[in-house]
Amino acid sequence: MIVRTLAAPAKYYQGPEILKDLYTYIKHLGKKFAVMTDEIVLEIAKDKLEQSFKGIEAGYEVILFGGQSTQAEADRIIKLVEEMEADAVIGLGGGKVTDSAKLVADLANLPVVIIPTAAATDAACSSMSVIYDENDTFVVSKRTKNNPEVVVVDTDIIGKAPLRTFVAGVGDAFACYYEARACRASGAMNYNGGVGTQAAFAIAELCNKVLRENAVEARKSVEKKEWSEALDRCIEANIYLGGVGFENNGCAIAHGVYNGMTATIKPFTAMHGEAVAVGVLIQLAAEKISLEEWDDIVAFYKEVGLPCCFADLGVEMDDELMHKVAEAGCTVSPNAHKMPFKVTPEVLYEAIKIVEERNGK
Ligand SMILES: [Zn+2]
Repeated sequence: MIVRTLAAPAKYYQGPEILKDLYTYIKHLGKKFAVMTDEIVLEIAKDKLEQSFKGIEAGYEVILFGGQSTQAEADRIIKLVEEMEADAVIGLGGGKVTDSAKLVADLANLPVVIIPTAAATDAACSSMSVIYDENDTFVVSKRTKNNPEVVVVDTDIIGKAPLRTFVAGVGDAFACYYEARACRASGAMNYNGGVGTQAAFAIAELCNKVLRENAVEARKSVEKKEWSEALDRCIEANIYLGGVGFENNGCAIAHGVYNGMTATIKPFTAMHGEAVAVGVLIQLAAEKISLEEWDDIVAFYKEVGLPCCFADLGVEMDDELMHKVAEAGCTVSPNAHKMPFKVTPEVLYEAIKIVEERNGK
């Protein structure tokens, strides 16, 4: 029996300056909110937060996040949230605080609101929390009971985040369609215990189309720190389409080889989405796509400023490291095995070699 399933945030809001109306979007969740954030983000957001709660009975308390999504940090914050008798947890900031807020809310049995301040990954919408140890080594990717109750995306804040975070987000979201296509062909399970619905696949296709048509112009908007329709569309692609798309279709080689990179390349300074972008090329090489399609995608990468090879990720690649990444890409996570053909370390090694031969420096 095939079970088709779809999971997504209950509510999603996106627009310029909308953080100042935050309470309007979350008032159904209660009257007391625990805001997890760091000092830098608080400085950027505090005026809008204050404005949002001005003159109303409801309120919020800030809990400064320690910076790493560890179990110990979640346990520390849960105590504070419980003492405060908060009705909901708000995760305000980047990927680490998002992961931690989802974990805290899950363990405290509270709803979670996510307010991403960069479009660097597709983590805001999913029901997954990545846990690390104190040394930033990946420990586990935990499924939370629910997707975020509300996701609030202030495009003014996102558009002013560093260009690198936006481009990395395009890389992460760009993987969505190719991995969805692979999972659909193989019948692999998604992250919600079933296979993707038609809607989920349509979201992945749309994600690809939006990025191909808008990412180059959106990049220019971020450089100029100016809002544009193209930027608005790409923010939705990076955060919502990519997020709901990956969770409901599944991941494949692009993320599998990323997991292999983080396990074998030390230090690894590339951002998640940058490395995943190279992972997409490795997946496409393993799929043996036509040279015409290849050239078209690489031209797009260059226009957007996405990394095309390991040198672009700041990694000096050699034959031995290629073997290590390929081996780890097959063992660290099950992602690489979601393809419609058998993936062995040799298959990944050959694909990495193709990417380096064609695009390497
Ligand atoms: Zn990703």
